[in-house]
Amino acid sequence: MTVRHPSTARSNIAVASPTMAFIGAVVLTLTLSIVLASFRAGGAGSPSPVTPPVASPTVDPTSEPTATPTPSPSPTATPTPSPTPSPTATPTPQPTVAPTPVPTPLPTPRPSVAPAPPPVTGGPPVCEYLDVLTKHVGYGEWAISLLDTIFHLPSGYAPGDLVDSGAAGVNGGYLLRSIVIADLAALAADARANGTPIKLVSGYRSYAQQQATFDYWVSVGGYKQALRTSARAGHSEHQLGTVIDVTSDGGAAPWEYADWATTPAGAWMAANAWRYGFVMSYPRGAYDQSCYDYEPWHYRYVGRDLAAHIAGSGRVPRLVLWELQ
Ligand SMILES: [Zn+2]
Repeated sequence: MTVRHPSTARSNIAVASPTMAFIGAVVLTLTLSIVLASFRAGGAGSPSPVTPPVASPTVDPTSEPTATPTPSPSPTATPTPSPTPSPTATPTPQPTVAPTPVPTPLPTPRPSVAPAPPPVTGGPPVCEYLDVLTKHVGYGEWAISLLDTIFHLPSGYAPGDLVDSGAAGVNGGYLLRSIVIADLAALAADARANGTPIKLVSGYRSYAQQQATFDYWVSVGGYKQALRTSARAGHSEHQLGTVIDVTSDGGAAPWEYADWATTPAGAWMAANAWRYGFVMSYPRGAYDQSCYDYEPWHYRYVGRDLAAHIAGSGRVPRLVLWELQ
């Protein structure tokens, strides 16, 4: 019983020897594999930490500068629309928004608005629908206050010497400046003596009345047509208090005629009104120069001297007035 144990033990050892060898071989293989694996892992791991740092700084700086120039075109695009409002009345906000790009767009709108280019060309600016305060707005400057589709009077412009038109010996009901009365009286008397009496159909119109007048014509023929035949508030010569619309005494409204200037009274006015200080502001075929359609009934009082000068020049009143600005 006692001997069996050692023999058993030996036999166990003998059996164990090849097993241990096998295990040793496995362990060795595993160890080599681990070493190789760790070596490979270490080899692959080192480039990867290096690559990201290299890649990320490369991408970041690239994307940031790219992003910066992208917004810069938009500031450049902003000034492009600004020239559109600026001709009207945007000059104030422009310098506030973008001082740098402004210089480029500004020169473009200004020539069309301001009196800058006309001195160069020698004539008034082309007819546009703008709102530029006319240069001569004093009540004593009534003869040379230039009004058209561009230039206008202040909304509060209202002469203090308005009197009823009846004071000139014509039909009453309209207001005119007192400075007009004497010459209008002479004109009306001579027209009557000629057998071609006249009748007033309009005189002074306030800013508010002109607004209503323009709106009326818009309702009749639309905005675009109204612009050709009626002035926007502030742009009307009637606000000066020195302008009359006339027709034949006993006749229809002058615009009801195909051409009122071909009627006896209209023809007499066209030929003689200047002698009394009145000029036809919007002659036939001069739309591009007067900015309005032909109005043979609309006469502006500018005084006898200036009226004679305008009549003698054969030019549209607006062109002569421009030279006096
Ligand atoms: Zn008129």
